[in-house]
Amino acid sequence: MNTLKSFLILNLFSFQIFAANVFINQAGYLPNLPKYFYYSGQADSFYIIEKSTGTIYYSGTLVLSVKNDPATALTLYKGDFSDLEREGIYFVKLDNGDSSFSFEISSDVFRSAMEKSLKEFYYQRCGIALTPEYAGEYNHPACHLSDAVLHSSTGESGFIENTGGWHDAGDYGKYVINAGITVGTLLMAYEYFPEKFDSDNLNIPESGNGIPDILDEVRFELEWLFKMQRADGGVYFKLTGKFFEPFIMPQEDKEERYIYQVSSPGTGNFAAIMARASRIFSIYDSSFAKTCLEASILAWKFLSEHPHIFPQGGFRNPIGTNTGYYYDYDDSDERLWAAVELFESTAKTEFHNYFIDHYNDAAILDSTMWWRNVKALAQITYLFSKQSSVLQEVTDNISISLLDYCNSLKERSNRNGFGITINPGEYVWGCNSEVLNNAILLIFGFERSGNSDFYNKALTQLNYILGANALNKCFVTGVGSEPVMNPHHRPSGADKVADPVPGIIAGGPNQNLQDALLDSLFNNSTPPALCYVDHVNSYASNENAINWNAALVFVVGYFNSEGKMNFENDK
Ligand SMILES: [Zn+2]
Repeated sequence: MNTLKSFLILNLFSFQIFAANVFINQAGYLPNLPKYFYYSGQADSFYIIEKSTGTIYYSGTLVLSVKNDPATALTLYKGDFSDLEREGIYFVKLDNGDSSFSFEISSDVFRSAMEKSLKEFYYQRCGIALTPEYAGEYNHPACHLSDAVLHSSTGESGFIENTGGWHDAGDYGKYVINAGITVGTLLMAYEYFPEKFDSDNLNIPESGNGIPDILDEVRFELEWLFKMQRADGGVYFKLTGKFFEPFIMPQEDKEERYIYQVSSPGTGNFAAIMARASRIFSIYDSSFAKTCLEASILAWKFLSEHPHIFPQGGFRNPIGTNTGYYYDYDDSDERLWAAVELFESTAKTEFHNYFIDHYNDAAILDSTMWWRNVKALAQITYLFSKQSSVLQEVTDNISISLLDYCNSLKERSNRNGFGITINPGEYVWGCNSEVLNNAILLIFGFERSGNSDFYNKALTQLNYILGANALNKCFVTGVGSEPVMNPHHRPSGADKVADPVPGIIAGGPNQNLQDALLDSLFNNSTPPALCYVDHVNSYASNENAINWNAALVFVVGYFNSEGKMNFENDK
């Protein structure tokens, strides 16, 4: 081990000692919901103390959470102070003197995280100026106004006006595959829980127009996606430069950008989200809704005419291009999702039959949704369908499968020191989004069954993201006492502003150590949940991505308004 390496490791561990190993949700706790903190030291009892007065408002006894937690190598204890419902600002103090960051109990604790994580999409907008009125100190001129040239892989040539949409992640590319799950998740949040996502005052340019801002923001992406569809219905895979950009502001990136060949997984994603958008936007803008549905049906036509994955084996970067390529070699899940969204929006038998014929091809619900596999999104749409022709037998089968899956997530949670639903081996690139997507499935499991265990487990996933983790880190910029400060996000790195763009969720620990910095700091004996560093160079643990932000919006938005509701279930 060289000197530099040991210096860095020492710093990392001394930082954790500084945080005293009392792990809380740094955003705070809702008065009416369960409240836990975790502790990895030696103590018996704890106190919840009001910060301003020093008054003890609650005391309790620690209980063992998990001994020798395989994810963290810690023995973790849990302190339950759910019964403390009084609003205020507190901290945890252990009987040995250790204490936590201060935190708030109030009905509004998740509002900031909710609003910031949704507004983060505005900061990802491409092709328009982010003005001081809406972007404050993060303002910048319009970027990428020359999008884009048709790459030779398309078999076409020339230029298609293709400005708009969101930058995908810490880079400035625009990828249809990832737009699919992102828009799908945001629209799903609004479709099932409109009262939780109806805010029209996020201070984006469309705020106050009478349409919820979450839909305005989604429409910005949809307007770009229309431009990615070819006349035959096929949808181009991505729009990027040939190489990832240097760490410069987007308006300074003048490299030529290209539209790459059509793909069937991208086309399936496009068909699904356009169909979903058509029914959600129909009450606000019937003309726009009609355009969405026509685009979706045209995409479906392309899929019908190309019954096998296109291009063969899935899209891969052509020689000379090394930007991301979201490698997806199986389009069956995208086709299933497209079919069920089209059924839900049109009631047509053709789409219904496709879903019935294929929903149980391998298994019904055996994985959490992510960009490569959107099957779970398809099953949820059918399970909660409003169409009168749905088959009870099918919804029953999906329901059983969903609840089985939620029970397996619950078991995973019980084995983990911080109660999260991923196992050692699964702390991989972007695993924070897996934690949140599992929370989404637990929420639907709760909504279907009323099982409060699922509800509480979903909340536990959010607690982890917001600070109840071994790193004592809130993984969302601009939220909590110890948020991510140095995300691998080009504007945050290149602007002259000290704080990063708010509302960004970092990918999280990555035990595969897939960047040079992680590889220099850790090795294969490092506990997997600790393989993370808040450094701009760690793209494999500290980048952002729109699909990860969408999962955060869903979960934190769901719980945000729970503080206002008279929640009747036994918790
Ligand atoms: Zn741009």
